Amino acid sequence: MATVAFIGLGNMGGPMALNLVKAGHTVKVFDLSQDAMHAVAEQGAIPCPSACGAAAGSEVVITMLPAGKHVKGLLLGEDGLLETVASDTLIIDSSTIDAGSAREVASAAKAKGLDFVDAPVSGGTAGAQAGTLTFICGGSDTAFERAKPILDAMGANIFHAGEAGAGQVAKICNNMLLSVLMAGTCEALQLGMDNGLDPKVLSEIMKVSSGGNWTLDKYNPCPGVMETVPASNGYQGGFMVDLMCKDLGLAMETATQSASSTPMGALATSLYRLHQGQGNGSRDFSSLFEQFTKK
Ligand code: NAD
Repeated sequence: MATVAFIGLGNMGGPMALNLVKAGHTVKVFDLSQDAMHAVAEQGAIPCPSACGAAAGSEVVITMLPAGKHVKGLLLGEDGLLETVASDTLIIDSSTIDAGSAREVASAAKAKGLDFVDAPVSGGTAGAQAGTLTFICGGSDTAFERAKPILDAMGANIFHAGEAGAGQVAKICNNMLLSVLMAGTCEALQLGMDNGLDPKVLSEIMKVSSGGNWTLDKYNPCPGVMETVPASNGYQGGFMVDLMCKDLGLAMETATQSASSTPMGALATSLYRLHQGQGNGSRDFSSLFEQFTKK
């Protein structure tokens, strides 16, 4: 078992840190929010007065922060964690950030002789709580092999996508595709309903036909078709429109940097931003269905 510093104890980081505690690791935690720290300290994590304090004496440092600027702010620069940690520390960043920032941190870590893995996750808060997240990692073989047993305590699927930054690229490719599938599923279901079809019947047909996809199998956006999805619960819980917009922004940035053509992703980005601008940012992303319903 290892001593792990966990920085960033929000909706995802809090339950992830607790799964490390449950697995028997010693977990030293820090968050700017005292409430977030107390919540995990009550269940066995060790609260620390600063990120440096948590990292001191830890073999592994995990960060789970909102965006690239937070990750770079914490790790880089004269006062950054990379300057203070022991030379054999493994750094794992599980935040979803732009691949450029991930590569920047990776090369700064390499210059210090530190192993670094970008390890963004898929699976949402439910996966974080259940310890069933998918980790999509970028980094050297050595860094990945060191990270895997730690990530095993928090996830069900641990992938090595390639070199540093590859985890972030794979994650935003997946989420861009998901946004496109969701938008297409919403419009197909509404087209059927506008022409007299029952969405449950249409969903069953499309699920086993050539239009079948994950959103139809697991996350139907039409209220009442599936019982346990956000669509049947007022689009509460699940994966927020704000987070989908963030990930699509990262996908569009990456596409610009690599001069890639992503017309479907660009259209989905516009649709989700429109939806977000109409006050839906904190609702589940399947609420995009309402853009297609006739008022
Ligand atoms: P969150 O806003 O709930 O938590 C972020 C935490 O980081 C907060 O508690 C905040 O106080 C803390 N923080 C910020 N700067 C800090 C600093 N310098 N030092 C210490 N603590 C700091 O966010 P979240 O939902 O937990 O998401 C975290 C990351 O995971 C994001 O990059 C997000 O895109 C990604 N993600 C989220 C989900 C989801 O469903 N929530 C799913 C997959 C990936």
